[in-house]
Amino acid sequence: MVSFQNSEERQRHRSIDAFLASTNEAVQDSVFKDAFPDAYQSFDTILNTFAYVPNVVHGEAQVPKKHQTSESIPILGVFPDETITVAASGILSMHARQKLGLLEYVAAVAPKNSPSEHRVIIVETVEEIITKSIKPASVSIPPNTAARVYTPHGPVLMNQPSLGGNQYRSIRTRPFMAIPLKKADRPHDAMVGIHELTHIVQSLTVGPTKIDIATTERGALRNELEAYSTQVNATKALFRFSQNRQYHFNNDLIHPFAFEIDAIREAQNANRKDPFEPTGTIRKEIAKRNGFDLIS
Ligand SMILES: [Zn+2]
Repeated sequence: MVSFQNSEERQRHRSIDAFLASTNEAVQDSVFKDAFPDAYQSFDTILNTFAYVPNVVHGEAQVPKKHQTSESIPILGVFPDETITVAASGILSMHARQKLGLLEYVAAVAPKNSPSEHRVIIVETVEEIITKSIKPASVSIPPNTAARVYTPHGPVLMNQPSLGGNQYRSIRTRPFMAIPLKKADRPHDAMVGIHELTHIVQSLTVGPTKIDIATTERGALRNELEAYSTQVNATKALFRFSQNRQYHFNNDLIHPFAFEIDAIREAQNANRKDPFEPTGTIRKEIAKRNGFDLIS
């Protein structure tokens, strides 16, 4: 069957396919694989099993039938000044990995000896509540943003005997990536891809969290520090050791803000249990550089 796509849609797919191919090339590089085996496993699965590029029809992201699975992850290409509505149930629903994480969480807070069927029922109930309450998203990319991962989320009241009864927890649904449509297939953009893949992994693995502002803000900043660190360390490794000449001593790869912040973080947090803890000093340094070509 031949499907008709107008030239704008062809450009959207060509550009994002090129971005994903260049990100995949960096991830499959033996230097990346050897230096970051865990990240390699996760990124390879996301890029080569979960990711797809939705069509946009009348400003709304469409999910083709074959991607209406519990594992698919949309990578949206966004034109400048374009706002894409994300409302499809094939996107605004929990990812299979998130459900597994929720099941683990429920098992951890459930009373000892509670039957495992109860846990599955709780997971299904939470999923039903969050699916009903999640609102369509409006996706756009501000001019100074390199890319963005959206993770819709909402509060669900959960019975947590080990924590003293009913408490609200923030439950996330599947993340999706938004990439501005420009020339997006350079090695530099692959490093942005690696940064954003780190956010996808975070969204798939974090599990339910408290919903107070301090916890939410701290978590977002912590995740940003981790994404910068992955990006910087991947850049350093490929820059020095890759057989692929496009990375060799290529100054375009280096994102100055990411390098500065990661150096400060590393010095500050050398002996911390969580190396990505957003301490007061790190916060001050980030605030000083606010608006400095931030990759979110
Ligand atoms: Zn980020």
